[in-house]
Amino acid sequence: MRFHVLTIFPEFFEGFKNTGIVSRAIEKGLVDINTVNIRDYATDRHRTVDDVVYGGGPGMLLKPEPIFRAYDDIARDKKPYVLITEPWGRRFDQKFATELAQKDELLIICGRYEGVDERVKSIVDEEVSIGDFILSGGEPAALVIMDAVIRLIPGVVGDSDSLRVDSFSDGLLGYPNYTRPAVFRGMEVPQVLRSGNHRLINLWRKWKQIENTLKKRPDLLEKARLSPEEEKILQAIKKGESFEDFTGNNRV
Ligand code: SAM
Repeated sequence: MRFHVLTIFPEFFEGFKNTGIVSRAIEKGLVDINTVNIRDYATDRHRTVDDVVYGGGPGMLLKPEPIFRAYDDIARDKKPYVLITEPWGRRFDQKFATELAQKDELLIICGRYEGVDERVKSIVDEEVSIGDFILSGGEPAALVIMDAVIRLIPGVVGDSDSLRVDSFSDGLLGYPNYTRPAVFRGMEVPQVLRSGNHRLINLWRKWKQIENTLKKRPDLLEKARLSPEEEKILQAIKKGESFEDFTGNNRV
C-alpha cells in the first residue's frame, strides 16, 4: 500500500517511518510512505504556501496552487484515494481504518494554520477527524491514521491473531493480559490463565472483554453482534454472577 502525505513539515514523519512495525513494513515492501513537501510545489521565489484569509479574520490559510500541483504530479499515474485532515471530518475509528486498508493508494493532505483553501476539497474524497479537539496541524492526525491502517495490511503484524483480539476488531474492547512473574508485589496473575485449560482461558477472556465493554463502553455493546455464547455471558454479568459461578467453579 502506498501513502502520499502532503505536508509543510515532512520531517515530522521521519521517526514514524524509522520505528517498529512501520519501518519493518517498509523494509518488507508492504508499505511505502511518500512524504511530499507542499513547499516544493510553490511557484514563487519565496516558496510561499500560505496567504491571508478572504473576508478578514485571524491567521493564514494554505494556498490552493501548491497543493493542486503536488496532487496533479502524484495522480498523473494513478488516482489515489484522497483524505484531508479536518476537525469537523468523519470521526476516525477502527471501521474507517479497515475501509482505508482496502485502498492501494491513499493521499493525506495535512492542514496547517487556519486550514486550507476550501477549493482544495474538490480533489478530496473524505474529510477525516481524529477527535473533537484542535491540533495545530494535520500531521499528528495523519500519523494516527497511517499507523492504524498499516497494522491492518496483511503481513505487517507478524501474528494476525493479535489483530483479531485487539479492541474494537469484533465490536468489543480487549481483555487484560499478564506476563511473568506470576506474583508481583503481592498481585497475582489470575489462576485460570495458568491452568493450561485453553477452553477455560478463552471463556475467561471473552468474559473479561464483555465485562470491560459493559463497564467502560456500553455504547459498543448496543451495536455489537454477539454470538449466543457471548449473549449468555452478558446476561450472567448483568445478573451479577461471577466467572466461577458461570463455569461451575471452572469445571469447563
Ligand atoms: N480553524 C480550524 C477550525 O476552526 O476548525 C482549525 C485549524 S487547526 C489549527 C489546523 C489544522 O489542523 C486543520 O486544518 C486540520 O488539518 C488539522 N486538525 C486540527 N484538529 C484536527 C482534528 N481533530 N482531526 C484532524 N485534523 C485536525
